[in-house]
Amino acid sequence: MGDRIVAVGDLGPYTAGRIIDATGLVVAPGFINPHSHTHDDQLNPFIERDAKASLMQGITTEIGGVDGRSPVDVGAFLAQLAEEGTGVNFGLFIGQGSVRAHVMGWSPGPAGEAQLDEMKRLVREAMEQGAFGVSTGLEYQPGSFANQDELTALVAETAPYGGIYSTHMRSEGDRVVEAIEEALAIGERAGVAVNLSHLKIVHHRNWAKEDEVIARIEEARAAGLRVFADVYPYRAPDYAVNRPLSEWAGVLPPEYLLIVDGASADLHGLTVAQAADRLGVAPPAAAAELMARYPSVRVVALVSSESAMHRFYRADWSVISTDGEAQPKLETAAEAMRYAFHRRSYGTYPQIFGTLVREQGLLTLEQAVRKATGQVADELGLKSRGYLKAGQYADIVVFNPETIADRTTWLSPQEYPEGIAYVLVNGHVVVDEGEWKGGRHGRPIRRGE
Ligand SMILES: [Zn+2]
Repeated sequence: MGDRIVAVGDLGPYTAGRIIDATGLVVAPGFINPHSHTHDDQLNPFIERDAKASLMQGITTEIGGVDGRSPVDVGAFLAQLAEEGTGVNFGLFIGQGSVRAHVMGWSPGPAGEAQLDEMKRLVREAMEQGAFGVSTGLEYQPGSFANQDELTALVAETAPYGGIYSTHMRSEGDRVVEAIEEALAIGERAGVAVNLSHLKIVHHRNWAKEDEVIARIEEARAAGLRVFADVYPYRAPDYAVNRPLSEWAGVLPPEYLLIVDGASADLHGLTVAQAADRLGVAPPAAAAELMARYPSVRVVALVSSESAMHRFYRADWSVISTDGEAQPKLETAAEAMRYAFHRRSYGTYPQIFGTLVREQGLLTLEQAVRKATGQVADELGLKSRGYLKAGQYADIVVFNPETIADRTTWLSPQEYPEGIAYVLVNGHVVVDEGEWKGGRHGRPIRRGE
């Protein structure tokens, strides 16, 4: 007891040890992040078990094991998490890349029959232990060595459990349409719902494909396939953050390259096109001129289509994710920049509610809350989180819709947000009047809970 919502509405008959006055504030279910790298322990030393960065932006539940990478022994990992504690509730997918590496190393050919049988067995075992489904990261080795038949065979093992196929597709750019077709075909053939991870369209030359991408997804849904996408609200993926200008100068037009380091300070925060103006050179020559003057100049490349991101968010098949992880806050912005930390780990949900909802009117407040909570729970099959009603776990976020704001920038990626007053995890107040109280009150969670 003490960890669930007891009643909603007229609380006349009840007494409470503590009463929080939320007059004028939004009281919402805690945000559920369906694509998280928090607790990717072996891969990333910069993880905080307390998950402060996630909780401070209102996230109370995260799903990891994404992009094809996870512990192979899901049960042991969840048990370890229970023992060590976790700030957020945490569940996971079983990663196809990790399973393949475990069984066949980095061998690039198709799996043999015995190898496929062993991989299937590991997937079934993970599902028995509570995994949400199979994830892939098909731009990464060794997962990318698997062909569509091999992937379908593995994913089909999850069908009897109501598993989900969560995929970082083979391409988000030049072959994005083909990659979506492959993901949808695997879901259809395996009889499993499909989650398109961090859906985006990258590279200027591919941005015009948004109609086709949306059409493919909506055709599949019309034909009866369950498919949803999670989307994060920033235009630079991790590989485009704080990179040498030389890497991107020929790839993106100068208005999409934001100078963040290595030039004179007054140019930091300007696009290469704006800097050209400042330096009095013609935009086509701007990148070359900057590299000549500042050989170590670095940029954030705004490589994802903003128009596509906005249309994806408006579609009823999209939900919100971060694709980030609970990074500890480093001493200075410069240090955070040095590690190329991404602002999504601190700013995603405030960016949605402050910018996309309040400033741009792209989504209503209610739509955004649903895409951050109940709709995610429904898609993942979570039965006891995502809604404010009696019997649900008391994961709650209280925020001011007039002031909630993402305070991160590309020059300072680790800033806690504005406007989030309270965050409760399993009935514990972990953010109180905007202040971090801490504690590991999250729990490992299993499919269907
Ligand atoms: Zn990914």
